[in-house]
Amino acid sequence: YTQAKAFVYSKYGEPSDVLSLHTHSISPSLPSSTLLLRTLATPINPADINQIQGVYPSKPPFTSLLGTQQPSAVAGNEGCFEISSVGSGIKSLSKGDWVIMKNTGFGTWRTHTLAEDSNVLKIENKDGLTPIQVGTVSVNPCTAYRMLKDFEDLKEGDWFIQNGANSGVGRAAIQLGREWGVKSINVIRDRPEASETEQMKNELLELGATKVVTESELMEKGFSEKVIEWTNGGREQVKVGLNCVGGKPTSALVKCLSQSGHLVTYGGMSKQPLQLPTAALIFKDIKFSGFWVSRWSDANAEEKKRTVEEILDLTREGKFKDIPVQELKWEWGTEEGVLKEAVQGTLGGFRAGKGVFVY
Ligand code: NDP
Repeated sequence: YTQAKAFVYSKYGEPSDVLSLHTHSISPSLPSSTLLLRTLATPINPADINQIQGVYPSKPPFTSLLGTQQPSAVAGNEGCFEISSVGSGIKSLSKGDWVIMKNTGFGTWRTHTLAEDSNVLKIENKDGLTPIQVGTVSVNPCTAYRMLKDFEDLKEGDWFIQNGANSGVGRAAIQLGREWGVKSINVIRDRPEASETEQMKNELLELGATKVVTESELMEKGFSEKVIEWTNGGREQVKVGLNCVGGKPTSALVKCLSQSGHLVTYGGMSKQPLQLPTAALIFKDIKFSGFWVSRWSDANAEEKKRTVEEILDLTREGKFKDIPVQELKWEWGTEEGVLKEAVQGTLGGFRAGKGVFVY
C-alpha cells in the first residue's frame, strides 16, 4: 500500500479554517486504465483560494473517495506528477513519465493520487525542465499565450498593454511578447518604497517589457499622450489590453487602446468592478471580452497540449523564465499548520513569489 496525504476541505471558508491534512492509503492493485502518480510540484494560485472560499464558479464535488469523515474535495488545480505505476491497459504512458492534468478541478495538493489515463497530459520531453516549470505551465503561461493569440491578430511591432504585469500571467505575457516581437506597456502597483518600485520596473524590463509604469503614472492626466508618443504618433497600434485587476485604473488603461482595440479581462484582483468608458464603446469601437483558461482547456485539448509544449520548448531554450516562487517543502512529516500558512498568504499582495509546494 502507498501511504498518501491530501489537503482536503469539507466546507467552504478561509483556507486556514477549512483545510485539513488527511492521510489515507492507496491499494497496489490498479484498475487497468488507472495510474498511480507521485506529486512533484503544485502551485498555490489565486483561483485555488477562491475555490476553497466557495466564491469560484467551478466547485469540485465533495466525495467520500478518500475516506474522510465528511465528504470532501482535494484542493489545488495544477501540478507536475511522476508516474509511479501504470494499469495493465495503458500503453501510451510508462513509469517515470511526467504528466500534468488535462483539466482544472482534479485536486492536486496531495502527495500521491490515482488518475485515469484520460485525466492526464504527458510531457513528451522533460529533459532540462524542473518540476516547478512543468507544474506551473498550464494555467498562467497558457492564459497569457491564448489571450495574446486568440483575440486580435498581433503582428510584429504591435503593442499590448496590461495591468498586474508582475503576476504570473503578466510575466508570461511580457516574455511571449518579446519572443513574438510584440511590444508591451506594463502597469504595476506602486510599492510602499520608491526603491522597490524601481526594482520591480527593472525586473520586468529585464524580462522584455518595453515600458513599465505604475498605476499612479497610468492615472496621471496626459498619460495617453505619452502612449501616443511611444507608439510613433499612434501609428503603431495598441491592439490588446490584458486586465488582471479591474477598478478605476482599468478605465485609464482602456483609454490607451487604439481604435477598435480589445480589452480581455481575466482577473479581478482589486475586487472592484470595471467601469467602461462610454466613448470607448461608441466612438473607439473598443471590444470587451473575458478569458477563462479552464473553459478554454476543456474545449481545446489538442491545442492545450501544443501550447504547453511550445512554452516548455521556450523554457528549455532559456527564452522563458520561471516566475519567482516561494518553495514550500511538503515532506511526510510537514505539519498541517505550516502548509496552511503558505496557502493563507496567497491573496496578500506585494508578494516575493508564488507559493509552490515541492514534494
Ligand atoms: P500571482 O499570484 O502571480 O500575482 C498576483 C498579482 O495580483 C500580482 O501582480 C499582484 O500585484 C496583484 N494583486 C494582488 N492584490 C491586488 C490588489 N488588491 N489590487 C491589484 N492587484 C493586486 O497571480 P496569477 O498570475 O496566478 O493570477 C493573477 C490573476 O489572474 C488572478 O486573479 C487569477 O485568478 C487570474 N487568472 C485567471 C485566469 C483565467 O483563466 N481567467 C488564469 C490565470 C490566472 P502586487 O505585486 O502589486 O501585489
